[in-house]
Amino acid sequence: MRKKRSNRRRGGQTGKSLRQQFVDFYYHPYCAVCDRAVQPPPPSPFVCRDCLTVLPFRMDRERLSWGHPWRLFATFYYREPLRKMIVSMKFSERIDRAEAIAPFMCGTLVRNQIDVDAVIPVPLHKKRLSERGYNQAALFARVLAREAGISVVDGVLYRDIHTDRQSESRTVKERRRQLADAFKLDQRSPLIDELRGRQVLLIDDVLTTGATLSAAAKPLDEAGIRVICMVAASDKEKYQGYHETIKDWTSLLDRRI
Ligand SMILES: [Zn+2]
Repeated sequence: MRKKRSNRRRGGQTGKSLRQQFVDFYYHPYCAVCDRAVQPPPPSPFVCRDCLTVLPFRMDRERLSWGHPWRLFATFYYREPLRKMIVSMKFSERIDRAEAIAPFMCGTLVRNQIDVDAVIPVPLHKKRLSERGYNQAALFARVLAREAGISVVDGVLYRDIHTDRQSESRTVKERRRQLADAFKLDQRSPLIDELRGRQVLLIDDVLTTGATLSAAAKPLDEAGIRVICMVAASDKEKYQGYHETIKDWTSLLDRRI
């Protein structure tokens, strides 16, 4: 399952052709947040220096508590500009944004010393997949797996029950009930035996109630696969910036008057 770590990205100056050095020098990739050219040396190949400073990293709050047996990590808060980046992946096919976000998720793995054998994206129901054309959890999974030098396991876990979009705004209890058996394992897959006893990273884009992610983790866990959950962003244990804190504080004063 584990692949040899690719050094394609590291290269080193000596390994680069003259043409590649020319391209590196003159071609500046565009920032996935603000769309301006990233000036060298880029701190990240897809995010410019200015935008990097405003990305809402959870920092020492990457580990979340959520009342399920599986460890859960989130790299970012679901705030701007990250929210816009993720939403635009859904509606305008900015898949370059997965390239910008996923390497930071890989950083979360390293910081928390998480060692996994494979990555599994939370699948979409095939009806939703055909509407959208791609699964953004799978995009994150692909980039993260490449960066970490491990494999993506696709097709073992699938979503059997299609829930409508309105269900996303229902209460946690309703959603849990609706999602309880929404995910299944393809029992014909030989990979189930191969994964049994191993540690896999189950990935989704955003965590709100946690109902989808925990429902997806359940059949893997029941098959004896050790699951660690990870999302790109979550507002769980929400961080409050200075302005929000002041707003809360003044509204408290208003109520007293
Ligand atoms: Zn930028």
